[in-house]
Amino acid sequence: MDLPDHKTKIVCTIGPASSSEEVLRELIIQGMNVARLNFSHGDMDNHRTIIKRIRAIAKELNRVVAIMADLPGPKIRVGVIQNEPMMLEKGQQVVLTSREVLGKDSLIPVQYKQITDSVTPGSPIYLNDGFIQLDCTRIEGEDIYCDVVIGGPLFSKKGINLPGSRLFINPITGRDLEIVDFGFEEGLSIFCLSFIESKEDVLEVRNYAKSKGKDVFIVSKIERERAVENIDSIIKESNAIMIARGDLGVEIPIQDVPIVQKNIIHKANLMSTPVITATQMLESMTGNIRPTRAEATDVANAIIDGTDAIMLSAETAVGKYPVETVRMMARIAKSTEKWRDHTTIGLEMMKKAIQRMNPSVEDMISIQVNDALRSLPVRYVITPTVSGKTPRHISRFRPDIWILGFSRYPLTCEQLAMQYAVYPVLTRQKVDDWEETVMDALNKASIVDSGDMVILTQGQVSGHGKPGGTNLLKFIEVK
Ligand code: PEP
Repeated sequence: MDLPDHKTKIVCTIGPASSSEEVLRELIIQGMNVARLNFSHGDMDNHRTIIKRIRAIAKELNRVVAIMADLPGPKIRVGVIQNEPMMLEKGQQVVLTSREVLGKDSLIPVQYKQITDSVTPGSPIYLNDGFIQLDCTRIEGEDIYCDVVIGGPLFSKKGINLPGSRLFINPITGRDLEIVDFGFEEGLSIFCLSFIESKEDVLEVRNYAKSKGKDVFIVSKIERERAVENIDSIIKESNAIMIARGDLGVEIPIQDVPIVQKNIIHKANLMSTPVITATQMLESMTGNIRPTRAEATDVANAIIDGTDAIMLSAETAVGKYPVETVRMMARIAKSTEKWRDHTTIGLEMMKKAIQRMNPSVEDMISIQVNDALRSLPVRYVITPTVSGKTPRHISRFRPDIWILGFSRYPLTCEQLAMQYAVYPVLTRQKVDDWEETVMDALNKASIVDSGDMVILTQGQVSGHGKPGGTNLLKFIEVK
């Protein structure tokens, strides 16, 4: 057990800058807990090779590294521009068209047939992550006439956002489900859903997986206004949440992103649902060896907000300094966590909120554990777990000691890799006596001293021999 010096988890997007064996190994050593494969790019053979490579290195280093497949969803894109970039000037008139043509002379092809039904005169249209803004003036057949409000260079295949417009595309596409099938073949269970709007989108993928006899861990990406509106029910049906600030910052007014981030993190914490804060966290490190002060502060603020994990996109996928960026994130996390409020105010607020939510036995156990952590010198909380629920419940209080999530299930361990302060430990065989097993493991790893106190949570087996949920707490003194 090689416990890191920080408890915030780090998600790295893998791309050309980070897919070699050498860089992947360094990323894992420096603190990557989750590898994100972005299926908007790269072919399946390439993804397959990377999955095998990550698994092999993680095994060799004896680390749990989760692999998360990010499904493209229905991203609307510009078609092919003949002479790139097409320069758009403020005040210029351009035509967006759903006809299959090459882009040239102010004519911009769009890969979304129903765009003329979605927008109306007056609708804002954003291209290239919001860097270019058009206003629709009129629609004629398959052509949309627009004024350029903010100009800039336009390249082929850049994303299009239509904030406030109704879209006639299902958030879960046939291509997404093909990737889910591919994931199953490769033993993946964690999937990120892009551009979802409601819990029905989450259920669609969960039911699809069920029809194939599989359980999936769904990370819902919040990047549309409707998803923000439906956040409570989406959190309830999801296994994790990603605040995808890239598209979110175009789909809703950019000045609202910070508050939406804080709200979503707070709600997800209450529900013990892990939450990843994503996009542009250390963006300038794509080209520079050091981040800006604002970026370092953004990472720290997300941690103070209560995020479980912080994510790198271009920084590790195509950046010049992928390893240094992860090292920087880890350093910011370590420094920020030290400061975290250890007064009982946060604990009391969280307790009250949980008590108002019709708490379960596991909720009460998590409160008891966190109460104990404030009063006793506990060194670790050890939570044998099947589903990951108990360590997740305890983690939501953001304790400053490690929760060791022992599990016999490799996929549970992977899923816990994105959970704040949880260190997943895979046990190779079925365990009868947890106390003996965990104490052995702690002693072997030399991470306890005689006289230390640890807490062990357990599920007492019912009279019918069926394992129950966690319903026991034991305080153990290390011999
Ligand atoms: C985002 O939009 O912030 C995001 C994480 O999604 P993607 O990288 O797929 O655009």
